[in-house]
Amino acid sequence: MSILVYIEHADGKVKKTSLEAVSYANALAAQTGEGEVVAVALGTVDSGELASVGKAGASKVLHADDARLTDGVIQAHAAAVAQAFGSVGAKTLVLAKSSLGDAVAARLAIKLNAGLVSNVVELPNTSGGYTVKRSIYTGKAFAESSITTENKILAVKKNAVDLKADGADATVEKISVTLSDADFASKITSTERATGEILLPEADIVVSGGRGMKGPENWGMIEDLAKTLGAATGCSKPVSDIGWRPHHEHVGQTGVKVAPSLYIAIGISGAIQHLAGVNSSKCIVVINKDPEAPFFKAADYGIVGDAFEVVPKLTEALKAEL
Ligand code: FAD
Repeated sequence: MSILVYIEHADGKVKKTSLEAVSYANALAAQTGEGEVVAVALGTVDSGELASVGKAGASKVLHADDARLTDGVIQAHAAAVAQAFGSVGAKTLVLAKSSLGDAVAARLAIKLNAGLVSNVVELPNTSGGYTVKRSIYTGKAFAESSITTENKILAVKKNAVDLKADGADATVEKISVTLSDADFASKITSTERATGEILLPEADIVVSGGRGMKGPENWGMIEDLAKTLGAATGCSKPVSDIGWRPHHEHVGQTGVKVAPSLYIAIGISGAIQHLAGVNSSKCIVVINKDPEAPFFKAADYGIVGDAFEVVPKLTEALKAEL
């Protein structure tokens, strides 16, 4: 028996969230005795990159090297993963919670007659059942869900588990999957790449600006700090609504939900709708001239001061240090 992990990749790299899913599966296998962790990757990606998935705890990676699968066509991915699930005799599928992961997991739950819990933050409690803790209300509360089906799907929340990195390289085995035209019934007709070197949803560090930045002409300061830290840039909703920044940078309940190691909020008040997009961050630093700004309540570190004075000084200090 094995635990199967669905791997996502982009630009030739396995996503960190998928490595977290493998790390989770590794700990789960140790807890439940479900045997080895096998990963499945779809589409064009380098074998060496896939072998490195072993560092997170997979012993084998099944690779359906079919170029049609590279773009993440949801039905086809679900069909391919279902076949891999059957071939390794798995009862549990682990994957990262993501927009692609959610869409694939929902279809797999039907195909495999599996109970699905998404946004999982801990290993399940298996004493007298199978109960899984998950994050709800954009990280404000937790719920416990029981799975009663034999087949189980767990979608792991970003940053919820420690990344294992000390495993040996995995063996990579090419597999072929049977796909029909119906699996490609929906097509991706075009994709638009977000600007910026580091994609916001994936970023490990985010520097975000709000209305306190006064205007788009002042964003050089945000970009300079972001570049110094190797960070992505984000913004509050009004900033993108006014057109100071593109919409794909809008962070919050109605925008991108980020989960970086470090989130730096500059001139953002900290409205509940903004916090809903950032409260999975490991460390939050707030720079605001108003000591009563609500964001300080959610901050790990706060600087009360004028962004136009603080940010250039902070950037200079970091440049000297890094
Ligand atoms: P403001 O509230 O105007 O705050 C600006 C801050 O900058 C203030 O705290 C001020 O003290 C500070 N400041 C001013 N000058 C300086 C300076 N020189 N130096 C340092 N600090 C300074 N918002 C989101 O961000 N994301 C969402 O997804 C989102 N979804 C929403 C959904 C709904 C249904 C609704 C009703 C609202 C939503 N909002 C969202 C809007 C949200 O309620 C706030 O209005 C918004 O987040 C405020 O943006 P802000 O902090 O940039 O601006």
